[in-house]
Amino acid sequence: MGHILVVGAGLAGSEAAWAAANAGAHVTLIEMKPHKYTAAHHSPGFAELVCSNSFKAKRQDSAAGLLKQELKLMSSVCMQAAQSCEVAAGGALAVDREIFSKTVTRLIKSHSRIKIEHREITDVSELQGDAVIIATGPLTSAPLASNLKSILGKSLSFYDAAAPIVAADSVDSELSFCASRYGKDGSDYVNCPMDKLQYEAFYQALITAETVPLHEFEVEDGLVRFYEGCIPIEALAKRGKDAIRFGPMKPVGLTDPRTGHRPWAVLQLRRENAEGTMLNLVGFQTNLKFGEQKRVFRMIPALQKAEFFRYGVMHRNTFIDSPRLLNPSFALKDNSRIFFAGQITGVEGYMESASSGIIAGINAVREARQQAPFILPRQTMMGALAAYISDDSVKGFQPMGANFGIIPPLEQQVRDKKERHAMLSHRAINLLKQKLVQF
Ligand SMILES: Cc1cc2nc3c(=O)[nH]c(=O)nc-3n(C[C@H](O)[C@H](O)[C@H](O)COP(=O)(O)OP(=O)(O)OC[C@H]3O[C@@H](n4cnc5c(N)ncnc54)[C@H](O)[C@@H]3O)c2cc1C
Repeated sequence: MGHILVVGAGLAGSEAAWAAANAGAHVTLIEMKPHKYTAAHHSPGFAELVCSNSFKAKRQDSAAGLLKQELKLMSSVCMQAAQSCEVAAGGALAVDREIFSKTVTRLIKSHSRIKIEHREITDVSELQGDAVIIATGPLTSAPLASNLKSILGKSLSFYDAAAPIVAADSVDSELSFCASRYGKDGSDYVNCPMDKLQYEAFYQALITAETVPLHEFEVEDGLVRFYEGCIPIEALAKRGKDAIRFGPMKPVGLTDPRTGHRPWAVLQLRRENAEGTMLNLVGFQTNLKFGEQKRVFRMIPALQKAEFFRYGVMHRNTFIDSPRLLNPSFALKDNSRIFFAGQITGVEGYMESASSGIIAGINAVREARQQAPFILPRQTMMGALAAYISDDSVKGFQPMGANFGIIPPLEQQVRDKKERHAMLSHRAINLLKQKLVQF
């Protein structure tokens, strides 16, 4: 039957324990609360929502909505709880956070195959079981984080510094051009040029845009602790009018074919996935509010109609270098008995964490039974997230939430975005259902 140890009873750990126990394993779920709390957790229950009480859009033709549909099909304990304590929030699924956490806690505690232990794990080697799942989240306690660092080496990050990602087909090809600096190494970058007036308007908007308030534990002497090698674009801009024009937006080595001249400033976009459907705004890691990112970055002419797959974020976040370390089953590539789940794997968001917990939970049991891993098709949102975090062609890995850019495109081109998303969702749900029938 197997004995599975799950560390951390957050969104991912609760799901992992639930999925493993439902698959017939005996599970010990180890949670350090209430003896010790992270800086963001305050209540003793499981699956505590540390910030927003929303699980985002419900519409199945949205990325977040599709993920929730898939979670439901996978018997997610978080979805079961969420539906019992939904609060009115327009098209979003929002919950009463206290009832949500209490419901997940009650369901987990009443499962006959789940045993709970309240203690802090500080050393992974003390965990004896047929398989182990580490789901200690973005604020993994410091002793465990340093233990993981000693095991995984440089492959552990303590903060996000992610730049936004836009849909390649939403970038205006008339107002951008493909080239690499000095014509070297092909024409891998999509360059978004600006003239002096455009740059000055953009610059003013950037330095006056609203930023996300930081949490106490992220700040030291009024500055974000992690500023050194990854300064947000707006903070760099505030150092002087030309700071970003000599930095990430430098135009050197580039000639705009429309004018035959070097632009005043350039934003470069780089491929984020092999298909080239997602483009990363190079050097634009940012702490601006999401609405402000859309408003300000769309002032760059080629991005006037940009569709954002992911907004930039900068916050305290412990996560491992999953593409180098994990399989899509969420097991370590070099130790199939040890799994990771949740935000620590580089998925971003409550439901994304829940999703990885389910896959890790199922696969931990399969590992204990020496069965082949359960891998979902990449066309599903859950499968796409698992594929993304374990794809070692990804460079400069940064956390990723559900979005349609990580799903392989449809075979036919569908111009209308709503229709395209509806078709992608339809395909995902059908494939997931087929997979579950075979499972
Ligand atoms: C401040 C903050 C705000 C966020 N806001 C949002 C948001 O609004 N919306 C959103 O979608 N996502 C948000 N996230 C991102 C993320 O989705 C959530 O953090 C989510 O809770 C991650 O789920 P998880 O299961 O991986 O980790 P968590 O839910 O954090 O669960 C980890 C659990 O492990 C326990 N633990 C930690 N270390 C140990 C140890 N050594 N031994 C035993 N137990 C341990 C913790 O006490 C905790 O219960 C936020 C993250 C942070 C840090």
